[in-house]
Amino acid sequence: MNTAKRDIGRISHNTKIVATLGPGSNDVGLLEDMMRTGGLNVVRFNFSHGTAEFHAENARIVREAAKRAGQEIAILADLQGPKIRVGKIAGGSIELKEGEKLVLDASLEGEGTREAVGLDYRNLPDDVKAGDVLWLDDGLLTLTVDAVEGSKIITTVENSHVLKSNKGINKRGGGLSAGALTEKDFRDLKTAVAIGCDYLAVSFVKSAEDLQLARAKVEEEMQGSQAVRPGLVAKIERVEAIENLDEIILASDGIMVARGDLAVEVGHAAVPALQKRMIRRARELRRFSITATQMMESMITNPVPTRAEVSDVANAVLDGTDAVMCSAETAVGAYPFETVTQMAIICAAAEKEQDSLNGVAEQTDEHVSTNLAIAAGAVSVARAVRAKAIVTLTESGSTAFEISRHNIQLPIFALTPSVSAQRRMAMYRGVRPMILETSTNHDTALAEVEATLVAHRILSKGDQYIITSGSKMRESGSTNTLEVLSVK
Ligand code: PGA
Ligand code: MN
Repeated sequence: MNTAKRDIGRISHNTKIVATLGPGSNDVGLLEDMMRTGGLNVVRFNFSHGTAEFHAENARIVREAAKRAGQEIAILADLQGPKIRVGKIAGGSIELKEGEKLVLDASLEGEGTREAVGLDYRNLPDDVKAGDVLWLDDGLLTLTVDAVEGSKIITTVENSHVLKSNKGINKRGGGLSAGALTEKDFRDLKTAVAIGCDYLAVSFVKSAEDLQLARAKVEEEMQGSQAVRPGLVAKIERVEAIENLDEIILASDGIMVARGDLAVEVGHAAVPALQKRMIRRARELRRFSITATQMMESMITNPVPTRAEVSDVANAVLDGTDAVMCSAETAVGAYPFETVTQMAIICAAAEKEQDSLNGVAEQTDEHVSTNLAIAAGAVSVARAVRAKAIVTLTESGSTAFEISRHNIQLPIFALTPSVSAQRRMAMYRGVRPMILETSTNHDTALAEVEATLVAHRILSKGDQYIITSGSKMRESGSTNTLEVLSVK
């Protein structure tokens, strides 16, 4: 771990930062500093690695760091899903030369050799046929299928590569039959719920059904509990998910543009345009989006990002993403603090130059809930009176979220008495969650908010700002009031 003195000046930005926890970052002091600098809003637990005990201990570390930093952050539990991998290889790796043959054998027990390599997914031979292309190790090795003989897939090596144990396999063009939730995922889901995750990410979803199943499992797990259900994140990383994008977005609370696996399914060149479409569509359908994988890859070993990485993060911000994500950079990298600080600086700079964001799709004549109508009204009134901020009193965080789906660059200060709502709002772009003491009355609370915003120089004398609230504060979805106030 890099131990240089950390400069924890606070960087103000609207786009949220998700950082994956791992041996490089599961330290209370480090996480506290990452939060204080404004570099950490959501912590991702990668269930591809680690035991239930490891994740439970990490949850304790994260909550402790947040307490010290005086913030509420969200925990995103990311299930592994049916990631297909080659088995263990004797000696750790085999050297493959272009033009050679390689056999993948689903029934091979024990370690793989130059003769044949095992698979952790028994059905792969049924899912491929001669002519199919398999990409291993994130696309670094290409194999073409010559034939399938029982449990054996006979392939030709298209490029020389050293194949190591447990590397991932993707099939070009998709078409793998594995469901999105494995037995391991069901076990991990229990752990994720037990440690109180705020979001649960489902990997390799193909359809809305995968999310409905995950939702039902969460419900089963939490039966009788009053606690808020974790929001569901659909990871878009399969060809089928692109085909069923709208139904998947609508069945989720938000999506992840999972560029790692997606790139090896659709070909990497297709990813940037897909990213733009996915982020836009999520906003239009009133869901959030996280842009993920290799955003700051070189910072795993370097203290500064490459020019291309700076552009990549900035472009995701300009596309309108809610959050940008770090994977190995913060899980195992040497510069986790520097990585998120750089991300925060890049987000802030890109947001400053941004004059428009895609917003919710044009409303039709359809009847919408009072909540949605007030959110749309707040945005349009804020524009009309040149308001400097929107303040929303929200029980579940839903009004703040609905406002943030619109094309508006104003900060949205969301006051809630609920800690879980505060944590959940950590994901939403432009939303600044704050705690509302329930003991104080409505007017005192608002006066305090105004004083806080003035103290932080967000508002000054004469500025107008918008407030949305409900007459029944403790009821979720009860927002029915829109006010325009000016600072005296
Ligand atoms: P992963 O998901 O890191 O869990 O594979 C993200 C991606 O595929 O981009
Ligand atoms: Mn993935």
